[in-house]
Amino acid sequence: MKFTITFNGNDKKADGNGPTEASQYRILGITDSVTSCDCCGKTGLVKTVAIEDSETGNMGHYGTTCALNPAKCFGFSKSEMAKAINRFKAEQQAIWLAARRLYKSLGGQMIAYDFRSTGGDVGSKVADMAFYNVCIEKVRAAR
Ligand SMILES: [Zn+2]
Repeated sequence: MKFTITFNGNDKKADGNGPTEASQYRILGITDSVTSCDCCGKTGLVKTVAIEDSETGNMGHYGTTCALNPAKCFGFSKSEMAKAINRFKAEQQAIWLAARRLYKSLGGQMIAYDFRSTGGDVGSKVADMAFYNVCIEKVRAAR
């Protein structure tokens, strides 16, 4: 005898342990390589949330506002979204750090700055932004 277990919107259990609407969508990650929202069409976004629809297998990119909008029915909680954003930020920091290392190792020049007189900090920054961006792309491609 065969058992077929189906998880779709029609067989939700009354005890609340069954599949919910929210489980249809999954946050795959957050990216800054896609900057437009598939939902409202807004462009120029700093980052978008990649969301997978497990029922259709479709993946879309949405601005964080749309992704959290209850009316869009994704059903994500704020903390769930915050976790995804934190992961993204950590990843971004790691890429910047590695790119800076690569930039220096390839002979990229740094400029020392001192903004202490205006309440800023002191440190060094990359002199060749275009070359630094190339390094970022290289680091990304290698990950
Ligand atoms: Zn949108």
